[in-house]
Amino acid sequence: MPPKADRKGPVIPKEEPETVRRRLLALLENGPRTALELSAAVKRSEKDILGHLEHLRRTLRQGNRRLEVSPAECRECGFVFRKRDRVKAPGRCPLCKGESISDPAFRVEKGPRTLP
Ligand SMILES: [Zn+2]
Repeated sequence: MPPKADRKGPVIPKEEPETVRRRLLALLENGPRTALELSAAVKRSEKDILGHLEHLRRTLRQGNRRLEVSPAECRECGFVFRKRDRVKAPGRCPLCKGESISDPAFRVEKGPRTLP
């Protein structure tokens, strides 16, 4: 009987969460990134990315920086999904029923939050 759990393939070394967050921060300082882009860049699941972003959001607040999120937006009619607090774009626009929705994008800005 062949062994069941004969794991092959590359062994990805575990990085410290701090290292991942530093890399995410560097990416976010260079402009808006979606969770998917961040996930691909640091090779972590989007769920992990969300956790790291939450951590960054808290720690940045102590410094003179902040994490900003551009909400998902319908590419067809421009509807903005302001209330969705999720990393992934919704599947369909409630207005025009279009399915071309941009993902929410994250970025790091300097300075305190500016009031509208
Ligand atoms: Zn739409």
